[in-house]
Amino acid sequence: MVDYICQYMTNLENQRVTPDVEPGYLRKLIPSEAPVEPENWEDIMNDVDNKIMPGVTHWQHPRFHAYFPSGNSYPSILADMLSDAIGCIGFSWAASPACTELETIVMDWLGKAIGLPNDFITSSKGSRGGGVIQTSASECVLVSMLAARNQAIQYLKRNKPHVEDNVFLPKLVGYCSREAHSCVEKAAKILLVKLRILEPDENGSLRKETLLEAMEKDKANGMVPFFVSTILGSTSSCSFDNLQEIGPICKAEPCTWLHVDAAYAGNAFICPELKPLLKGIEYADSFNTNPNKWLLVNFDCSCLWVRCRMRLTHALVVDPLYLQHANSDEAIDYRHWGIPLSRRFRSLKLWFVIRKYGLSGLQKYIRNHMKLAKHFESLVKKDNRFEVVNDVRLGLVCFRLLAPDTVNQTLLATINASGKLHMIPSMVKGKYIIRFCVTAERATRDDIEYAWRTITEHASDLLGMLPT
Ligand code: PLP
Repeated sequence: MVDYICQYMTNLENQRVTPDVEPGYLRKLIPSEAPVEPENWEDIMNDVDNKIMPGVTHWQHPRFHAYFPSGNSYPSILADMLSDAIGCIGFSWAASPACTELETIVMDWLGKAIGLPNDFITSSKGSRGGGVIQTSASECVLVSMLAARNQAIQYLKRNKPHVEDNVFLPKLVGYCSREAHSCVEKAAKILLVKLRILEPDENGSLRKETLLEAMEKDKANGMVPFFVSTILGSTSSCSFDNLQEIGPICKAEPCTWLHVDAAYAGNAFICPELKPLLKGIEYADSFNTNPNKWLLVNFDCSCLWVRCRMRLTHALVVDPLYLQHANSDEAIDYRHWGIPLSRRFRSLKLWFVIRKYGLSGLQKYIRNHMKLAKHFESLVKKDNRFEVVNDVRLGLVCFRLLAPDTVNQTLLATINASGKLHMIPSMVKGKYIIRFCVTAERATRDDIEYAWRTITEHASDLLGMLPT
């Protein structure tokens, strides 16, 4: 399998980046009943080659420019192999002490490297907070909102201890910007709370006045602002909310939890020159970033830090006898920090990656992506048929033909159908745009120039076909 993986990674470039298959293609190729007798490896691997690979989208392909990077590297793959072999289910300290303790240590490493306040670092003197690895950013947002909901209900119950918790739900209201990821909306849906989706400014940034106005209006109607989810590095355009303005507004409320979702951009804060983008973090109650996006760690590895771990675990603790152990009082039991009980040994891959590259190697990787995004931006700007729509600060460029949305839609559809390049669309400032993200670990200037040539060739063909 190791040889197979090495070959896959080496030969990726010679394949289409996206598969050319129709929905249901696999059902025709795989028996509808499970085999009764064991099969041999050769047959299984032949089917991988002939049936599975033709339907795979190659996220590690140098021509993959969709979404955000899907982190990947040899140290990370090897760590996951070892984690799979150990196969422990580290829900408590006792269930596998190394699994729990390494997670706390590497979360401190990464939290410090990002520049989070000491309150978020478990080993910091006087800290009541800490970090935990979750499966996804969506889960980080959900558990943060859950903790915030619990905190607000406890606050509202202080004079009405006998009232049922759910009686307070209709009063709770959360806020985020239109640029926030849809997982915030999903979390509100799951938790049965209202969410106001607010308009950001012309740079995609949620500002003080907008939030304040919405909160004042809600409070005048008897509602309780309990949660604000801000975004550093939005999915559509990599825009940044103004934390320095929003933070004090949350702090002025009796029970408003401030969450910072930096699923992609947060990783980049390990570079000292990018730390100004984190200004205002001192107001946050929780912060998440995904090393499985932009830190060469394979999915899943989504890191959440909280300022006060008791406020998180208070919302999640259940403690049956069969999960208790003699060291519960002094050890961390991560089952209280999230939704699932069972947990993989995920810290191993974060540890391998940080050690094998060193922070300097990871900084180099991020800076290379940023430099290449700037190069792509300069190529777009030189062609007066196109415009760049976002402020290119990290590895994402949003661009479009200076033509109606329908023309841009056709351009993207034909490029994707060619299998030569893969990008996705979004809406920025009310316009349909194409997102170009630098994703591959060893992305080069040549890859960027290949991409731009492919885009301009398709654009010339398309514009040539349009009536003048
Ligand atoms: N938040 C942001 C800013 C994102 O860009 C994404 C996904 O791209 C998410 C949240 C959701 O991430 P996940 O797939 O880990 O739930």
